[in-house]
Amino acid sequence: MNKNRITLWTLGLTVCGLCACSEVAITGRSQLNFMPDSMMSSMSLQHYQTFLKENKTSTDAQQTERVKRVGRRIAQAITKYCRMKDIQSELRGYHWEFNLVDSNDINAWAMPGGKVVVYTGLLAVAQTEADLAVVIGHEVAHVFAKHGAERMSYNYTAQLGGMALAKAIEEKSEATQKLFLGAFGLGAQVGVMLPFSRLHESEADRLGLIFMAMAKYNPEVSIPFWQRMARTKDGKGQPPEFLSTHPSDERRISRLRRYMDEARDYYRQALRDG
Ligand SMILES: [Zn+2]
Repeated sequence: MNKNRITLWTLGLTVCGLCACSEVAITGRSQLNFMPDSMMSSMSLQHYQTFLKENKTSTDAQQTERVKRVGRRIAQAITKYCRMKDIQSELRGYHWEFNLVDSNDINAWAMPGGKVVVYTGLLAVAQTEADLAVVIGHEVAHVFAKHGAERMSYNYTAQLGGMALAKAIEEKSEATQKLFLGAFGLGAQVGVMLPFSRLHESEADRLGLIFMAMAKYNPEVSIPFWQRMARTKDGKGQPPEFLSTHPSDERRISRLRRYMDEARDYYRQALRDG
């Protein structure tokens, strides 16, 4: 372990020991997170509004309604899940909004507070509502598990080292804005976006399957969906942007197979509940 890593871990552990460890609902994993939820939501809202000003929402009423319908059902599933597990506090601060944006990019994303965008380009790969539920379920699972805030917390400790964190963590500070964009893969200024960590992908896959199953979409469609995504090329013959942060490989497919039994149970129960 090199010196920087040691500093990072020491700082992480110190911060963690002070106040910053929280637990991911469902998986129970503890995570480093010292970003206040309210701040994450307000920064998201600001970037989301700017994005909607600069990008056109789709004029296709039918496709827009499909995206919104899938989104509503996934959001309801999350509410139901939290009630079932008696973790309603996890629902605080969400104001769900699902939008279809006109763009050939094969992409989708979700931000803290529940702002979700699907690009029309994705509809060529996500042709059914169940396919859309795979993507929306997965993206929303990243939000639910607060992966963005966790990435920001680690990046703060890595980049700012011994600087006073409390002073650095301000909504308007340049460092915070940069880390926010980096944590969510937005903005070219952050350079090449690395794939989200395997741990986060694995967690989002598992939660995403549960959420889509509880929303009464068959979780089995996730495997052919991700396989189709892996074979897809965009208009320039390149792999979709979505794959730069969500590599679809054998590892993902075997992970999905591993989680399928659990998801199937939730699906059967949801169908029984009617
Ligand atoms: Zn992901």
